[in-house]
Amino acid sequence: MSAYRFVMNGFKRLLGQAPNLPQPVSSLPPDQLVSHQPRIISRGEHNISRKYINRNAVRVLYRLKEARFQSFLVGGGVRDMLLGRIPKDFDIATDATPEEISGLFRNCRLIGKRFRLAHVHFDEEIIEVATFRARHNSHFKPDEDVENHDDQNRIFKNGRIVRDNIYGTFEEDAWRRDFTINALYYNIYDFSVVDYTGGVEDLNARLIRLIGDPLQRYQEDPVRMLRAIRFAAKLDFTIHPESAAPIYDMGRLLKDIPSARLYEEVLKLFLSGHGWKSFELLEQYKLLSYLLPHFEKYFSRSKDLIQAVLQNTDERKQQHLTVSPTFLFAALLWTAVEETAKQLATEQSLNIFLALNEAAYSVTNQQHKRVAIPRRLILGMKEIWMTQPRLEQAWRSKKALVLVNQPRFRAAFDFLVLRAKVNPDLKEIADFWEMLFLASPEHRPDLLNPPPIAQPTANKRKKRRRHPFKKRTTATID
Ligand code: ATP
Ligand code: MG
Repeated sequence: MSAYRFVMNGFKRLLGQAPNLPQPVSSLPPDQLVSHQPRIISRGEHNISRKYINRNAVRVLYRLKEARFQSFLVGGGVRDMLLGRIPKDFDIATDATPEEISGLFRNCRLIGKRFRLAHVHFDEEIIEVATFRARHNSHFKPDEDVENHDDQNRIFKNGRIVRDNIYGTFEEDAWRRDFTINALYYNIYDFSVVDYTGGVEDLNARLIRLIGDPLQRYQEDPVRMLRAIRFAAKLDFTIHPESAAPIYDMGRLLKDIPSARLYEEVLKLFLSGHGWKSFELLEQYKLLSYLLPHFEKYFSRSKDLIQAVLQNTDERKQQHLTVSPTFLFAALLWTAVEETAKQLATEQSLNIFLALNEAAYSVTNQQHKRVAIPRRLILGMKEIWMTQPRLEQAWRSKKALVLVNQPRFRAAFDFLVLRAKVNPDLKEIADFWEMLFLASPEHRPDLLNPPPIAQPTANKRKKRRRHPFKKRTTATID
């Protein structure tokens, strides 16, 4: 924010006036000077009502207003409410600096290195409050392999913003956002919606459109490609052709994104209720291999299982059931682990458990470099994988009675059921475990020696022995 603007806002506060919407500023890059005056959608012309806004967010909005700061709801909250959807979270934007925000709320913590943000803590949730930020003036050189600064506060590396703490005006804040539909502001002073970038029009046309020059905006932050896909999947919108075209070429920029950030994005893409659609779009835009490095090699063999896990996750989400990242990643990587284990078992004459263990180590190590799956999840994934051959070998045997009672059984069994969905050879085995699991403990032994009519046919037994994974290895049940 310029010194002049800062001082003027200070005066307005002293005089007890609500700060006005700022006038257009000339410091915006030329491509952004198209919309000087925002479109204001007044209270009566839109469907957002305070009763649909989370009450803690309303409290924060009003506290900022009482202190005479500008105070807006922005981002997904406004977008989703305008679409008649229930927002996932509510973000707030203001001209108060993080320190000023912190002074207003006892329960406030300042976080973030890349972007400095205020987190206002309530018992059950956190409301994020961001100070208006400006976009840079685009005089950096995107291909330079060095860090460069466009002023004291924003740092670029290879054209990517790595730190960005320049405060700006309200209008500048709108232009630096990613997509037009994410740059709509609900003003707590008069309950209007403020639209600088054409977001309302794009909402009506169901379009995801990057603000500004797409090449430059993806270069600044390649994660915007994943966000475009996520919003297209979530809202069932189309990515505007000009925002879509560069993605095919620019996917490689995702290699430079820290793996911890990609982990968060992958969770949002796959565990938010639109996982399968996201996956299909990632495939269409050729981005999958930047998230799942093994995927290309095992593409044809793994796709059915991935489809099954993602559709199952989407259904669970719709029914408000829990979804598990461990289970998701176990499925995403299973084919790579299984195929690598088969190869190791053949080449090094390892038993299947040793081979699986080594394969799991190698696959998760490579995956971790790209998408930082937390270690505790990897432990859970390994347990699911290592229990698969046990479930395949111990069914109907006495060992089944022990296995069914072990804590690791449930997740591994669910995973076997998932595999059986795409591999009919496993159906009979999965059915057995389900029967055993559902039976009362005293009836379980009977299921190991069923009456003749329920016994598997000789044919079926043979089929089990012919299971390809077991035949090619020297597996033994331990
Ligand atoms: P969701 O429903 O997933 O929360 P959202 O649009 O609110 O969607 P957030 O990640 O919560 O997404 O971000 C809040 C807002 O911050 C966005 O709507 C957008 O205006 C802005 N934003 C987030 N990430 C970026 C980015 N990488 N570049 C520019 N603006 C961003
Ligand atoms: Mg949000």
